[in-house]
Amino acid sequence: MNEWKNVWILAEVSQGKISPTAYELLTAGKSLAEDLGEKLCAVLLGKEVKKLAQDLFDHGAEVVYVCDAPELENYIDDIYAKTLNGMIQAYKPNKFLLPATNLGRSLSAKTAIFAATGLTADATEVVINKEDGQLHATRPTFGGNLMATITCARTRPEMCSLRPMSYPRAPKTEGKNGEVVEFAFDGQKYTSLAKFLKFIKSEGEGLDLSETDVIVAGGRGVGKAEGFELLGKLAARLGGAVAASRAPVDNGWIEYRRQIGLTGRTVKPKLYIACGISGQIQHMAGCSGADVLVAINKDPDAPIMKMAHYAVEGDLYEVIPAMLEALDK
Ligand SMILES: Cc1cc2nc3c(=O)[nH]c(=O)nc-3n(C[C@H](O)[C@H](O)[C@H](O)COP(=O)(O)OP(=O)(O)OC[C@H]3O[C@@H](n4cnc5c(N)ncnc54)[C@H](O)[C@@H]3O)c2cc1C
Repeated sequence: MNEWKNVWILAEVSQGKISPTAYELLTAGKSLAEDLGEKLCAVLLGKEVKKLAQDLFDHGAEVVYVCDAPELENYIDDIYAKTLNGMIQAYKPNKFLLPATNLGRSLSAKTAIFAATGLTADATEVVINKEDGQLHATRPTFGGNLMATITCARTRPEMCSLRPMSYPRAPKTEGKNGEVVEFAFDGQKYTSLAKFLKFIKSEGEGLDLSETDVIVAGGRGVGKAEGFELLGKLAARLGGAVAASRAPVDNGWIEYRRQIGLTGRTVKPKLYIACGISGQIQHMAGCSGADVLVAINKDPDAPIMKMAHYAVEGDLYEVIPAMLEALDK
């Protein structure tokens, strides 16, 4: 066990850029590394990604492990997981945090299997237990009614995927120094039966939920897919993005990646406007971190009306046009 040292985070790269989750993981990882007296390290996988290392140093990484290879240009889970396991066996990290994004969820599970270690998936908080130095990862369970703290006592690294937006982004200080460790890609070993054909960006998406401080979310009360166009107008007027509770996603009115909540995304915007959403615990699990919560609901007794900073009683099809008119003035 003593051979395994340092805290790693995976810096996910999307379309040649570091994803914001990397900076959140650096915040979470920093406190773990400080408590353990170990180094905070980041991992970069991809094609022509070495140049991104400086940005990770500027956000607090002390060491960046890089595997830069043309074969890693596009994400294929087998190839990435085998490469990551190769790095784990070579450098023996103690703790390893990955983002619970689509890519991170798939990659963390597969890597944990190759590395024969444990993974706490989808955690919202990580701490070091002062008595034994173990990672305690906490995540909602039983439909969000309980928080479970999970450990991985007998194997290393202790792996964990952390929900995006569970931690603030690490601050940037330009020009910081760090060490780059290059890991050679082994084309004989890191193989897959899957082949990358092409990248297709989904249509009509507007802003991504992680890119904005304002979210306009719709629930079952929106009533139909077309209703989200009205929410889209308000979101566009406020420079924000559209999201939803589970009901509209289940009804096929909006795509799953816009779902907020326990089985969707966790967000921490400055402003969250919930339209026709009742405020069930599974939904609130994803948005209760908003600085300001506004609820628009016909029912004054809906649970969300008590949780909101501003509760607007009314039909969203009257309230939103009135808001748009007021904003235009
Ligand atoms: C294990 C598990 C995981 C889950 N995960 C999630 C999750 O990730 N995210 C999630 O959201 N849910 C999740 N759910 C479902 C959750 O329990 C609720 O069923 C769901 O959040 C309800 O969505 P809603 O508020 O849009 O609908 P409802 O509860 O039906 O509320 C609709 C609201 O709209 C109001 N309304 C109706 N018409 C209008 C109008 N014209 N103008 C204004 N207001 C109007 C009504 O008064 C009502 O308050 C999960 C459930 C389980 C069991």
